[in-house]
Amino acid sequence: MGFENKEQDATVRPLDASKLKYTFTTSPRDVPNPTIACAADETVCTDHMIQAEWNAATGWSTPELKPYGALSLMPTASCLHYATECFEGLKVYRGYDGKLRLFRTEHNAARLRMSSNRISLPSPEIEQLQELLHALVSVDGAKWLPESQPGSFLYLRPTIIGTQPTLGLRASKNAILYIIMGYMAPVGTIPGGMKLLTSPEHMVRSWIGGFGHAKVGANYGPSVAASHDAGKDGFHQILWLYEKECTEAGGSNFFVVWRREDGKKELVTAPLGDRLILDGVTRRSCLELARERMADQLEITERKFTIDELLDAHANGRLLEAFAAGTAWFITPVSHIRHRDHDIHIPLGGQSDGGEVTAAIKGWLGDIKYGRVEHPWAVVVPERIA
Ligand SMILES: *Cc1c(COP(=O)(O)O)cnc(C)c1O
Repeated sequence: MGFENKEQDATVRPLDASKLKYTFTTSPRDVPNPTIACAADETVCTDHMIQAEWNAATGWSTPELKPYGALSLMPTASCLHYATECFEGLKVYRGYDGKLRLFRTEHNAARLRMSSNRISLPSPEIEQLQELLHALVSVDGAKWLPESQPGSFLYLRPTIIGTQPTLGLRASKNAILYIIMGYMAPVGTIPGGMKLLTSPEHMVRSWIGGFGHAKVGANYGPSVAASHDAGKDGFHQILWLYEKECTEAGGSNFFVVWRREDGKKELVTAPLGDRLILDGVTRRSCLELARERMADQLEITERKFTIDELLDAHANGRLLEAFAAGTAWFITPVSHIRHRDHDIHIPLGGQSDGGEVTAAIKGWLGDIKYGRVEHPWAVVVPERIA
């Protein structure tokens, strides 16, 4: 028995980034004007993508870096019917010192493993995923995120989809991992701040026992209706409530700074324990930086807090700041929250970077990502010059 297992294991190949095969494009595209590219209806991606196929019996194929282009799937592919799909979102930053940096990719890789596992797809090793991210950035970075544009970024989207062409509902025996990189509008600064509308009474984004903590596509498509409606009234995101608990602001985590009833100043965000929210890399970084650098000024707390507590703090002048935190939105100060017929207005402080705490955290994170300071969270990616 033991022998048989061993033999079987030997034939199931792990993902091996060191074997990455390079097939360079023969029709490189022009780099577009970033503003136009961000506004386009089709996301503009770089010249190349990375792809690897997985099969339950044989494991991973040799990963390949190849020209960006369409996938080929059978109409019966598992992901098209049962949402066997998960993804990650991270950015590569062009620093003010001219270098390219990736930020804490081990956490994105770990989260992709967790999300993939949640939908019965394979979980490639963290280091292999990191190495593939570096490879794509290394090949397309110099051209698509030129040194002449410090302070800019490109968005990376690692994705795993179940591709077994079987309509029977079961764990997909085939999957594709791919990594693409493209333009995404910079939304870190909204003039006048971010406006949030609480979720409609009849809707939740996630629930106890559900999968709100996983970045699986199934969490996102159904949330669009609420944010679309909110957008028509001038709101940027939904503040998702669970019962009365404040959980997340659209696709980003949500933080509040207030003075508690006992007079203490507190930075608070929803906890991870009940798996309602995403374990954001930005969230984690905000908490770690605040604990390291602001613990003498305020308490830093992960706990449940309700919209009623928020309304009460506002009514009593104790609500100081609120912000959304995520890769896409970076750190965006929140200026207005509407809950049913109540409006909460939050002062943004002098600048559009929000109040003291918000602005400090945003500044520190920006400095790390764009290389204004050296920090272990931001890793320089060597560039392959074509
Ligand atoms: C991706 C995501 C976040 C933010 O996570 P980061 O790792 O900080 O980008 C927060 N909430 C939801 C629902 C998300 O999908």
